Amino acid sequence: MLQNFTLHTHTNLFDGKNTATEMIDTAQQCGMVAIGISNHFIVHPDIVDTPSYAAALRGGYAHMYMNNFDGAINEFKQHYDELRRIAQHASIKILCGMEVDFFNTAAWRRGFERALKVLQPDYIIGSGHFVEYNGRLCNIHDMANADDDARDEMLTLYWTKIQQMAQSGMFNWLAHLDLPKKRGLGRDARWFDTECRTVDVIAKSGARLEINAKGFVLPYNEPYPSGRILNQVAAANIPVLISDDAHAVDQVCRNFSDAEHFAQQCGVKNMLSLQKILDFSN
Ligand SMILES: [Zn+2]
Ligand SMILES: [Zn+2]
Repeated sequence: MLQNFTLHTHTNLFDGKNTATEMIDTAQQCGMVAIGISNHFIVHPDIVDTPSYAAALRGGYAHMYMNNFDGAINEFKQHYDELRRIAQHASIKILCGMEVDFFNTAAWRRGFERALKVLQPDYIIGSGHFVEYNGRLCNIHDMANADDDARDEMLTLYWTKIQQMAQSGMFNWLAHLDLPKKRGLGRDARWFDTECRTVDVIAKSGARLEINAKGFVLPYNEPYPSGRILNQVAAANIPVLISDDAHAVDQVCRNFSDAEHFAQQCGVKNMLSLQKILDFSN
């Protein structure tokens, strides 16, 4: 295993299963020299109307979804204060990250800029868990449950969002590029052109990508992004890192070796160092 840091992880303060200390200790036992905690930063005025919010309420992590920036800033402030306290006595490097849901409005950008000033994260990951379709916030499960036409429109919106995230220049890297694959969406050959166009936009924008190893489960047994996308990523020489997207201690560094092997097979050569990831600025 070549990569000795893990930067895409979650804790039980939000939708993870373990404490920050448990995640940090595990990363150290796995031989990591650094761990970043990157809980979800999701702010949208309509978020409380979604099924995701209802599920989070039942699961006890509803504060992961905020309909205003002040609430999210407050949650993260306490969270980062704790991480920075732990970091003072830890023997591996601890970084304050966030996995941010991007919304392409002026109001969202203003709010997010304000959050960055207050929180000063070490890095930010761009994610698209939601699309705004017909005045409603929809996630990939809503996509999967929609009829064929609506599903195609939502998927198109998804890929447009990924392109906007890349062009925004706001993120140290973009997460799980073809996330709708989780529900089997966008796998057919019809979407290949859209994927290639998106890779092109990413390459031109200077954005970077993760190879997210949580994808190594049946039936596809390949990371996000899929092999056919990763071939294009390699050809465009887009820089990548490997993520575990760990939501529990037994997922820390999961399938890192598989992901490295897979990347190699796809011809990926441009692997990011920790320093290069953190140095990113727009
Ligand atoms: Zn995610
Ligand atoms: Zn995540």
